[in-house]
Amino acid sequence: MQKGNIHSVESMGLVDGPGIRTVLFFQGCKLRCQYCHNPDTWSMSGGKEMEVDQIIKMLKRYQPYYGETGGITCSGGEPLMQIEFLTELFRTCKEENISTCLDTAGYGNGDYEELLAYTDLVILDIKHYLAGGYNAITGGRFSVPESFLEAVKKRKIPLWIRHVVVPNLTDSEEHIRGLGEYIRTIPNVEKVELLPYHTLGVDKHKVMDLSYPLKDTLPMCKEKTRQLQKMILDIVSLQPRKD
Ligand code: SF4
Repeated sequence: MQKGNIHSVESMGLVDGPGIRTVLFFQGCKLRCQYCHNPDTWSMSGGKEMEVDQIIKMLKRYQPYYGETGGITCSGGEPLMQIEFLTELFRTCKEENISTCLDTAGYGNGDYEELLAYTDLVILDIKHYLAGGYNAITGGRFSVPESFLEAVKKRKIPLWIRHVVVPNLTDSEEHIRGLGEYIRTIPNVEKVELLPYHTLGVDKHKVMDLSYPLKDTLPMCKEKTRQLQKMILDIVSLQPRKD
């Protein structure tokens, strides 16, 4: 039986996928996004060890609340860092008729094929649409999320896209237009959501004695984010959605 290293659990979340969902935040992430507000999930150690059976038992308690649309969302950290455990968890969820959603930056390795066979929805956080910009924001290689995205496209898994809009980094119309053009080439995109940068990460970095790259950056203006949101939906030809 696989064991996972779980940072925390939100029993009934409303923002990470459709309906009411139990959200598992996985421990471990190789990226170092400039605006990360969860640096406490970076390390592969330090979380709580949980077995698949134990999680399924917990999900069954909440299952009556999931209704038609809810279920489990695995988030992080980067859930793909524990792909074998994640695959077994999702496989068991499907046996139990629990809907599965993967909230990821696409930064893993291993066999996505089997995992995606048990994944109902992917929420993909696209950090940037160009290799240079991607590396500057995350410290990672763009080819890694690209190969994950290829696997998602191949299996035609429904996709929700998220992107953090940061003042002076990812908030220009030119950037959003480029991102929109990139997303337009991806089939199966059901939703695109721009998230305004906030400064919740500042204190966590301080507590962990880490330097914070965006310490002089103010929170993103919500109104401007709304305008950019409208712009990108026009580019990708999507209507706004409520869920
Ligand atoms: S992918 Fe998420 S958890 Fe990892 S560094 Fe980036 S924001 Fe933080």
